[in-house]
Amino acid sequence: MKKLIIGNFKMNTTPSEFKSYAMTLATKVKGAKNTVVVCPPFTHLSVAREILGGSKVFYGAQNISAEENGAFTGEISAKMIKDLGATYVILGHSERRGQFKENDKLVNKKIKTALANGLKVILCVGESLQTRESKQAQNFVRKQLDDDLKGIYENELESVVIAYEPIWAIGTGKTATNSDITKMAEIIRKEIELQFSPKAAQNITIVYGGSIGLKNYKKILSNAAINGALIGGTSLDVDAFTLIARENY
Ligand code: PEP
Repeated sequence: MKKLIIGNFKMNTTPSEFKSYAMTLATKVKGAKNTVVVCPPFTHLSVAREILGGSKVFYGAQNISAEENGAFTGEISAKMIKDLGATYVILGHSERRGQFKENDKLVNKKIKTALANGLKVILCVGESLQTRESKQAQNFVRKQLDDDLKGIYENELESVVIAYEPIWAIGTGKTATNSDITKMAEIIRKEIELQFSPKAAQNITIVYGGSIGLKNYKKILSNAAINGALIGGTSLDVDAFTLIARENY
């Protein structure tokens, strides 16, 4: 089964380091069946265009402003990353929600801005450990989906990937079990069905993220309930990331 393999660099590497990474990645994934995406920091996107433009590897950003342009010092717009050839943008990552206080209203606005500018959105949802322990994970994720996708048209869902990323699994070495992942993927599809249609639920792309590494990627990515993976720490190692990207699942 063809999968979507996404790398999230977070705030790691320099543009020069990324150049050699991208050269290796483009060469090594040439024959891969999977769709491969890397999301480095904004400062690396012109390097991505130079090295990955015309290759099999797509690239994207880790955030954008909800605004189109104007007096927003330090912000980066959807149009700017689109101009550099970005296809994707990660929105609603738990590090942005937690550290930068991005709420669902803002995430919803950013999604609309991204879609209006022809970008594909990787929307991250997922519960904290406390929410999980209080058995509220499913309700929490459902509400995130309702709020984040409010006002989005069904045909726009073709450009939306849902990344289920339980916060307790991000960068912690703890992964959700396949049974947890399958259950939450079912909940996500059910919610998409309620909000949109059975067809939308069937077609929506769902990926899992949270401490995927060389020891667990095969097991997780073989899970037919998900369409791929969002990989943080491990994506920084080009050999590990290409191994995961080249595998047949
Ligand atoms: C992430 O950054 O979205 C992520 C899943 O990180 P890690 O793979 O390091 O847990």
